[in-house]
Amino acid sequence: MIEARACVGLGANLGDTRAVLEAAYAQLQQLPGSRRHRCSPWFSSAPVDSSGPDYLNAVACFDTTLSPHALLEALQAIERSHGRERPYRNAPRTLDLDLLLYGDQQIETTALAVPHPRMHERAFVLLPLVALLPDAVIPGRGTVSTLMATVAGQSVWRAD
Ligand code: AMP
Repeated sequence: MIEARACVGLGANLGDTRAVLEAAYAQLQQLPGSRRHRCSPWFSSAPVDSSGPDYLNAVACFDTTLSPHALLEALQAIERSHGRERPYRNAPRTLDLDLLLYGDQQIETTALAVPHPRMHERAFVLLPLVALLPDAVIPGRGTVSTLMATVAGQSVWRAD
């Protein structure tokens, strides 16, 4: 069975965001075929391409034997369990889970793009990711530590 390290971005900007993200991380820890879970510190960020209150964000990483598409489906099931609705694109959300990285794979299907296509330009992804994995590489984009310089102007701050 092939095992890969998956990185998942967690974000929420409605309701009790900290409780929602903690519950979502607990659900990630329950995923079948997955172990060695770690979660970054919490960060807050102003909405980007979205609206409403500030976001709470984190990145979780774990080793998994779930396929990328099975993992995406599991992430969407966790989102739904928190009552996520999609009234319009980039609407405020109780929980957003993005599959950021899956090993060093580059995947482009109708349902799934990995690395997540906008992760390299979002400070609310890169800051927690580099806190968790300082040597992380985004396939096709470069090292996270190098990309950090390109997002220096964005409003993201530690929430704990
Ligand atoms: P969003 O509303 O931002 O959560 O986007 C969800 C949609 O993006 C779903 O239809 C997914 O199939 C698609 N998607 C494509 N790539 C990814 C990814 N790496 N992580 C999460 N959703 C993805």
